[in-house]
Amino acid sequence: MEDERRVAVIGSGPAGAAAARELIQHGIAVTMLEAGSSFPHGLLIRLGGRNMYRRVPPLQEEAGHLVSGDPKTQCFVKFAAGGLSNNWTGAVPRFAPEDFTEGERLHERFRWPITYSDLAPYYEKIERSLEITADPRDVPQLPAGYASYRNCIPDDWQDIERSANKRAQGFTTYPLADGPPNLVVRRGTAFNSYTSIVHPLLRSPHFRLETGAHAVQLLRSSSNGKVDAVLYHSRLTGKVERLKASAVVVACGPLGSAKLLHNSVCNDFPHGLGNSQGLLGRFLHDHPREWWSIQMDRPRSILSPSAYLTRLPHRTSRPLMATSWTLGAATLRDRIRSRFGLKGTEVGVQVLGTMVPSEACVAKPSATMKDDFGFPALDVCIRYSDAEVQNVVSSRQHLIDLLDDAGCSATLGEIVPTLFPGTAAHYGGTVRMHAKPQFGVLDAWNRVYDAPNVLVCDAACFTTACEKNPTLTVMAIAARAATRLAHDLKHA
Ligand SMILES: Cc1cc2nc3c(=O)[nH]c(=O)nc-3n(C[C@H](O)[C@H](O)[C@H](O)COP(=O)(O)OP(=O)(O)OC[C@H]3O[C@@H](n4cnc5c(N)ncnc54)[C@H](O)[C@@H]3O)c2cc1C
Repeated sequence: MEDERRVAVIGSGPAGAAAARELIQHGIAVTMLEAGSSFPHGLLIRLGGRNMYRRVPPLQEEAGHLVSGDPKTQCFVKFAAGGLSNNWTGAVPRFAPEDFTEGERLHERFRWPITYSDLAPYYEKIERSLEITADPRDVPQLPAGYASYRNCIPDDWQDIERSANKRAQGFTTYPLADGPPNLVVRRGTAFNSYTSIVHPLLRSPHFRLETGAHAVQLLRSSSNGKVDAVLYHSRLTGKVERLKASAVVVACGPLGSAKLLHNSVCNDFPHGLGNSQGLLGRFLHDHPREWWSIQMDRPRSILSPSAYLTRLPHRTSRPLMATSWTLGAATLRDRIRSRFGLKGTEVGVQVLGTMVPSEACVAKPSATMKDDFGFPALDVCIRYSDAEVQNVVSSRQHLIDLLDDAGCSATLGEIVPTLFPGTAAHYGGTVRMHAKPQFGVLDAWNRVYDAPNVLVCDAACFTTACEKNPTLTVMAIAARAATRLAHDLKHA
């Protein structure tokens, strides 16, 4: 591998890790810059396919961002090797083919430049490294992926599946990157992008990891229009260092990536790299999320692993308006009881809804506040519309009616108030992909239109949001973009 082709990958979360592995496998040398200094330990004990004890390291709620939309907005970050995968749950549903196209019913700006078929091979490649427990059969609105461990919903829930099917919805095991059935590890999650991907890469002489390296700016040469270096603040030296690179993969998470491009002003792009159309940071979206419990009139098997009720069909739904339901053990006590085949009447339900991305929701540089490195702080301005809130609230009655149709009478229990931005830690859209630069910052291969040797590979690139958890799709997109980058560098 030649050093002139060395790529800087910024961030060691799932997106950066997936891109770095692909580059190394294709013969491209990589230096990864990670702002966090260490790998935070936790503890996970799994027995018989159930998580018995899980201690995750604390999340940082304060990313140093300002909040100017909904004042309750949360911005979780994890400046650590492995990023938020130190804390995640590991739900890894694939997007459905229609998730990439349904937005065009509203407007051309909501059409992704990639299709499900483009991603399918990368979905499978990523799934093979995630050690997923799932039911390997397609259900409506949820294509099956590769499952290392198989699980089907219990027999005494089959009537609910039939009731869901009558509404053209699927009811299946929630695909979870939960690892092998029995596991005791000193981390909070079975899959972590640092231990599972980045750490093994350290065996390659062509891979370097710089921790405590906070990227603050990308430097673009005005002579050839390429970004040729990254400035980063090194905790080791206490100084701003410069890393030369032939290309840069930005994977700081959807808020961090937008911030880095906003910081990267130059003569040609005084409003930030990638911002020539004024789109950088706009179309910020999230998953409006609710958690509640239901009480059933008779006991059924405790759902552990959880079950997943898929969204209503695209053709009968308003474009970009959907919810998914995850049904599982409501308490730790029930999780332990499930281990002994005991039944229960209480079910915990998590609902993920959608937003129609809009220019009004934006992650922009603050006019008044600076960050620790002297750059403008990020102002996160997001608020759910009444329709988006109502979409999630109405999902309660939908589930109760669906259960009722199956002869199961259920009542709503506790509702945990989480209907404000950031609680799902699923932001996206700030550096969106689109086939036309008038609607997107990135092209179909995640390349910044204004600086094509810079790729943004986390959920910042999402053109629209769907009701499914983002990380599997983020990793598949990152792997696809990195494969193309490797090809281009080798044939340049
Ligand atoms: C409690 C919880 C549960 C979750 N559950 C799920 C789930 O079940 N399924 C799912 O799909 N998703 C889930 N998520 C979300 C998931 O964790 C994220 O989607 C995923 O981690 C995003 O990966 P990423 O690489 O884009 O970003 P991150 O994981 O945020 O990683 C970004 C990395 O970049 C580094 N970084 C940031 N800025 C800089 C900089 N300027 N210079 C250098 N390094 C930088 C950070 O330190 C970090 O390591 C959950 C999140 C939380 C908090």
